[in-house]
This record gives sequence, C-alpha cells and structure tokens, in this order.
Amino acid sequence: MKLYNTASRSVEEFQTLEDNFVKLYACGPTVYDYTHLGHLRKYVLDDLLVRTLRHAGYEVKHVQNVTDVGHLVSDDDVGEDKLEKEAKKYGTDAEALARRFEDYFFYSMDLLGVLRPSLSCRASDHIHAQLEMVLALEKKGLTYLIEGDGVYFDTSKIDDYGKLINQDPDLAKQVLMAQREGERVDKVVGRKNPTDFALWKLERPGENRQMVWPSPWCERSFPGWHIECSAMALEHLGEQIDIHTGGIDHINIHHSNEIAQTEAVTGKKPFSRYWVHHNHLFVEGKKMSKSLNNFYTIDDVIERAFSPKALRLLFLMSHYRSEQNFTWDSLQAAQKAYLKLARFVLNLRTSKRNSELELSDFPGAMQLHQDFFTSVENDLKTNEALTIVWELMASDLDSDVLYRLIMEFDQVLGLGLAGLTEESLLKSLQKSLDKKIIDQDFAQNLGLKQEVLQLTDLPSLIQDLIKKRQQARRDQDFTEADQLREQLKEQGYELLDLEDEQLSIRKI
Ligand code: AMP
Ligand code: ZN
Repeated sequence: MKLYNTASRSVEEFQTLEDNFVKLYACGPTVYDYTHLGHLRKYVLDDLLVRTLRHAGYEVKHVQNVTDVGHLVSDDDVGEDKLEKEAKKYGTDAEALARRFEDYFFYSMDLLGVLRPSLSCRASDHIHAQLEMVLALEKKGLTYLIEGDGVYFDTSKIDDYGKLINQDPDLAKQVLMAQREGERVDKVVGRKNPTDFALWKLERPGENRQMVWPSPWCERSFPGWHIECSAMALEHLGEQIDIHTGGIDHINIHHSNEIAQTEAVTGKKPFSRYWVHHNHLFVEGKKMSKSLNNFYTIDDVIERAFSPKALRLLFLMSHYRSEQNFTWDSLQAAQKAYLKLARFVLNLRTSKRNSELELSDFPGAMQLHQDFFTSVENDLKTNEALTIVWELMASDLDSDVLYRLIMEFDQVLGLGLAGLTEESLLKSLQKSLDKKIIDQDFAQNLGLKQEVLQLTDLPSLIQDLIKKRQQARRDQDFTEADQLREQLKEQGYELLDLEDEQLSIRKI
C-alpha cells in the first residue's frame, strides 16, 4: 500500500507502528450547520482509505471527533464560537443544535455508504482530558496567559513549529505570515508571536456563553479548538498514531498546532506517521462552503432524483488530492454510470449458477483483480480503479467470476451493490426519467419496459381500481391494497409506488 504523506510531500510505502494494526484519527465535523457535499467528499475519501486498508488485511481503529465546542468563527482564535452563534440564530441551545446537526451528519454518511468510525467522540465529553493536556503544557513552561482572553501556546519555544508546511522553520513561518497578512481579522492583543494559538479560552465580560467549565484560570472557560483533536487522539489511540486525515485547509493552522502541542506533551516524534489531506469540492470555481452560501446537502441531491450512491461514484471519479468541481451535469453523468452498473450487477446475479469457482483458474479475472487493487492501493487512485470496473463490464468472462470480482471491488468502492434489487433499480430509473436525468431509450435499455401512462388516459374501471387502492394505502389497509394491485395486474396494468403517493403505471 502506498500513501501520499503531506509531512514528506511524497508518496511513501505504508508501514504501521504495530503489526497489521492501523491507528487512524480523522478530523470530524463541526456540528453547527447542515453537512454539505464538500464534507461528504472528505468523509467518502476517509471511508475509502479505511475500506482499502481493511481489504488489504489491516485491522483499523478509526477515531473521529465531533466538534461541538471551541471552534471559533476564525481559525485565528478570534470571533464567536460557531456553535454559540448559530444556536442564537436558530433560537435553540448549543447542545440541542449540536445533536441536531450531528444526527444530520450521520444520516448523510449512512446514505453515502460511509461506514461508521470505530469511535465517534465529542469534544464536550472530553473537557477533562483537554484541560489535563493544557496543564501539562503549562508545567513544561510552553504557555502564557493573556488576561481576559485565554491561555496561549508559545510557538517560539518549539524548534520545528510548522514542519508540516515546510521542514525549514523559517520557510514555514513565511508561509504562515503571508497567510495572516491576507486576513482581515483582529489581531489578538497580547499575543507574543503571531503563530501562537489559544489552548484554553476565558469567557469575555457580557458574553454569557452556554458552554463553560471551571479551570484554574477562570470559573467560566472553555477549550480552544485545536486541543480537542490532540487530547482525543491521545486518549483513544495513544501517543503515536499511524494516519491523521483532514482537509488541506487544516495543514497550516489546525494540524500544525495539533503536532506542536501533542509532541510537546508526549516528547515523542512524530505524532502521526502519515498525514493524509484531501482537496476541496468546488462549485463554479469557489470552495463549497457555508460562508459562501454555495452549498448543497444530500437532501438537495435526493430531491432532484439523484441516488446518493451516484454522488459517491462521482467523488470516486476524481483523485482525492485533486480539486473537484461539482456540477449537476457531472452528477447526471455519474447517475447514468451508476444505473448502468446496477443493471449489470443485477443481470449477473440472475445468471449466476452459484458454482464454487477459483479466481486463479481465470487469468483474465486475476488481471482485473490485480489492476483494480494496485490502483486503489497506490495512493487511492479510484479514478484509475474505476476504469477497471468499466473494463470488467465489457468483459466476456463467466458471469459467476464477474459477480465475485465486482462484489470484492465493492468492499472498497462502497457503492452498496450487494443490496441492489430489481425494484430499487426500476424506481431509480422511473424517478430519473420523471426528472429528465435520463431519456426514455436509456430507461428502456436498462429494463423500464413500458411507457408510463397518465391516470386520466386509462379506462374508468382501471382508474377506479387505482383510486380505491390509493385510499386503502392511505387507510393503511395493506391487504386490501395488495388485492387491488393483483386485480389491476389481471387487467394488464402494473403499478410501482414512488414517494409521496406518486405512482408509476405501466401496461404489461
Ligand atoms: P468543518 O465542519 O468545517 O470543521 O469541516 C470538516 C471537514 O470537512 C474538514 O476536514 C474540511 O476540510 C472539510 N471540508 C469543508 N468544506 C469542504 C469542501 N468544500 N470540500 C472538501 N472538504 C471540505
Ligand atoms: Zn482536528
């Protein structure tokens, strides 16, 4: 397995600290608003990494945090707490807001087929661990207090601060300074070095925060954002980990700070052996984000009749280190590819003989297998791995062999191919046709045989039966509804129930 490591700026051979066991920490969501497609791309790629490692035989402990306190509007330790600010806007309390958007996060992840982490941990449940870490740093003389503001980490006391940006500390500093010059944020008064960051914050007079805890510096205080990841990784994975993931936006500040404080406490280097950073999802040339208000959620995708798994396929079509530009046209292309793949898999399943086969008896299959896994295990080149899937679809190998191969590929791709049913495909085709994502020919080629009929075009006897059945369904009398569906079938009409009482009616 090969992975690009931001720390060395090169693709490296992957080696674990412990035999066959991977300690992986992933920066999780800040749960102050709806999870959008930009987030989804990041977590699909984390999921792909975990699935690829597991397929390669590693046991993976995947820890992912939930940021529900301390993440300020600016990464530079100024501004309001994102959670507190949004809670006010929604007229709710911070905790309720956090739970609501944490639920939405996992709801979105489940739809995309993202496996749940081995452990999901909330910052607000780890206040003690965070405080302990700040106290340890204070004991080592690496912190200072700015009255009325917070406890800061003195980055000038660390020789290799910013090494994730550049091994040369002077060059790293130049990058960090240039970044700060571009920002129109208030400077922190009393900060000794511009790169120093808050470990612990104190409530400001009149701020009236909802989330506060007592600390040696103030009765009403709270942890800074960066400390949570260090404290939770330390508690749940130990002093050194194998892989740390996050967006490229985290390299300069959040991850540089995590490294500085963790290595200062543990005295061990490196904190993480590999740093895996994914690039962003863009919309019309700009990063998809809440602040630019250019974001879509998974519900926007579903409302437009796209399958969440088609979105997952779209993400897999680009490499995680490249920017990806989201357009509805690109999702339309992915939906078509997904529908074709679904039809292919269902056809294979019907023609399967369930024979016991050895893949090694089929050189063509072995080649596809090797090409696919070489691609994903080479820094997660999913874009290349998918070309092997298209090749497989055009192959004339035995259907049992192909089915076995595609099912194994899907352990990594996570497109949910094993759970497909004829009915789910027909429904997707119907919805896609209704919303003009596909045309009649495309739908028919994939098995949606007849043209859809309008209720008003049908003989009145049939209309009556359909109306009766709809009423029975509304009354939850499903026996009656099923009987009426059978009667309609005898008369030559087939019904397919869509969402919101919508029906698709076809002549058989
Ligand atoms: P946040 O909830 O803002 O803390 O972000 C959680 C994760 O989502 C971070 O790793 C970000 O890098 C990532 N993220 C946010 N917006 C995007 C985007 N447009 N494309 C890809 N990843 C993103
Ligand atoms: Zn983090």
